[in-house]
Amino acid sequence: MHKANKRYGIMGGTFDPIHLGHLFIAETALDELNLDKVVFIPTGHPPHKDHENITDAHHRLQMTSIAIHSNKTFKLSAIEVNRKGPSYTIDTVRRLLEHDGGDVELYFITGTDAFMEVETWKRYKDVLQMIKIVVATRLGYSDVHFNEKVDLFTKKYKARIIKVAVPILEISSSDIRNRIKEGKTIKYLVPEGVEEYIRKNQLYQY
Ligand code: ATP
Ligand code: MG
Repeated sequence: MHKANKRYGIMGGTFDPIHLGHLFIAETALDELNLDKVVFIPTGHPPHKDHENITDAHHRLQMTSIAIHSNKTFKLSAIEVNRKGPSYTIDTVRRLLEHDGGDVELYFITGTDAFMEVETWKRYKDVLQMIKIVVATRLGYSDVHFNEKVDLFTKKYKARIIKVAVPILEISSSDIRNRIKEGKTIKYLVPEGVEEYIRKNQLYQY
């Protein structure tokens, strides 16, 4: 079997805002799986988060750019933001595979919560054939539903799922947004530059 020369991680998310939890799981995947780079792809129009108020894509792109700036192996892609209509992983994956002439292996990085929703992705069975999934699992976390899903996907769809253990980082974008509304500090939850950007642009105040 042809072995791809390039190994790219894909870190997808709303990144509203990007925080240290995102950066840390991307870095851990890069390190443990010897990836060449991790591409951060902010979602344009998340089909699952339609009901919520999502911050303008240009702010989310900008914050992501600031957050990954100091890491040469982290890249930013506006591929989903620039596409009209809802963002589907299958379209993104196809584009990325085409772009590199098929000589690339894609590792889609997710947290356990996002992994549990894979079946809601458009044509997820096809997606599972096209990429490997890296799930950042919490140390000592062995949810039966999670393990059942990993087994099912592996057996039924021949999915290639790689678990990578990370320490629990109870950081989420929703918590950060709430903290800002409540006037609480977000220092050390997001990179300094992102904190500054949020302040300057008065994001998440209401
Ligand atoms: P929100 O609270 O708005 O849902 P979020 O913090 O979950 O935001 P997303 O942009 O929705 O961030 O998540 C992008 C990806 O990062 C998902 O795969 C999610 O599981 C993962 N992720 C987010 N926060 C963490 C964390 N603290 N530890 C591990 N994985 C995380
Ligand atoms: Mg989330």
